[in-house]
Amino acid sequence: MALEQEKVNTLQEINQRGSDISRFVAKSLSYSVVGYDYHTIQLLVDEITLSEDISYARVTNQKGSLMAESGVKETDFASTQVLFTEDIKLNSEVVGKLELGLSTAKTIKNLEEKKYTVLQREVLIVFLIALGELLALSFFIIRPVRMMSKTLVAGVDENGHIVNKIPIVSRDEFGQLAESFNILSDRLNDVNLKLQSKIELADKQLVATNQQLRIQSEELKVINDNFKKLSNTDDLTGLCNRRHFEELMYNELETARRHGDSNSVIIFDIDYFKNVNDTYGHPCGDSVLRDVSTLLKERMRKTDFLCRLGGEEFVVLCKRAEKESAMKIAEDMRKTVEGTQFTFAESVINITISLGVATMGPDDKFNDPDLAYRQADQAVYFSKKNGRNCSTHFNDIKSDIR
Ligand code: GH3
Ligand code: MG
Ligand code: MG
Repeated sequence: MALEQEKVNTLQEINQRGSDISRFVAKSLSYSVVGYDYHTIQLLVDEITLSEDISYARVTNQKGSLMAESGVKETDFASTQVLFTEDIKLNSEVVGKLELGLSTAKTIKNLEEKKYTVLQREVLIVFLIALGELLALSFFIIRPVRMMSKTLVAGVDENGHIVNKIPIVSRDEFGQLAESFNILSDRLNDVNLKLQSKIELADKQLVATNQQLRIQSEELKVINDNFKKLSNTDDLTGLCNRRHFEELMYNELETARRHGDSNSVIIFDIDYFKNVNDTYGHPCGDSVLRDVSTLLKERMRKTDFLCRLGGEEFVVLCKRAEKESAMKIAEDMRKTVEGTQFTFAESVINITISLGVATMGPDDKFNDPDLAYRQADQAVYFSKKNGRNCSTHFNDIKSDIR
């Protein structure tokens, strides 16, 4: 823009100068033209074209005939010449015409030089503006932003509290931003504190709940153990019950089969027990059931199991007992009960038992506890039929009456 303006100014100046020179020369020539003084006119035009600024001069008379000419008239497109035409007047009367070619080469050269100067100046200005903007950017934007980010990175402690404050160094947008951040960090710290105390409380509650759960699970384990014991035990006598006995028998018969041993099962039933209840009452019957259990359990080998099958019926699993030793155990039990006087309150009660024995050798169907049980039960039935207070082995029952 500056260059354009410069160009316009220069062109105006050339026009002005051209007009001025033309007028001055035209005036100087007026007398020589009127007097047809060709020589002087020629001298004058030669003289003025010697000047660096004027490259062409031509003088014609009133009729348009050439009187003098000097220099070169440029007619091409890239001309560096500006033509001025001025009437040569004497006392306001036109006596001839002056054509003057003003050279613009020098002016253009000056203009080019000026162009570089202007460009240099522009570059310098642009550079200075950029430098100024950079400094302003650094001072007003980069510095506060860096200060903020430093504070943000280094300003959080191990508990998540924002400990540093951003210094407020100006009242501009950055100052407001720093102030807002400081307010925000205060609020965050408050929220953080509240949250931490809530977490601590929840932690304590969790620990207490866990402890309670541990206690409860221990209690539950005890209850479970007791429940299992109860489910395996007969309430009245404290012996193991039928369900548990079947479990035990299955395991024992399986072990015996593997070791090639024989096991025996003895079932016994109290004779005429209904009479005991009827004569001495049900509590007395219970007491006798308990006493029979205790008595026989005490005499039993540690490896044998005594169980109450139900009512006044019991079963003994005699491990590693062949028929003979099982029958010996059965007879010992029978004699013990027969020879014992059971007492309840003032009453003395005498009872007998009938027994049935079954023996399972390693070749038998060991893992069928039902078979052993059924055989022993059949033997008890035989003892009952045989007059009670006796022991029968299943193998001794003749097959035709089984
Ligand atoms: P048997 O010689 O043929 O075995 O005659 P029994 O009287 O012993 O046999 P029965 O099956 O006729 O009667 C059994 C009785 O045992 C009847 C029932 O009241 C009694 N009894 C069963 N369980 C209990 C119990 O838990 N407590 C008491 N007190 N009596 C019971
Ligand atoms: Mg019975
Ligand atoms: Mg009975």
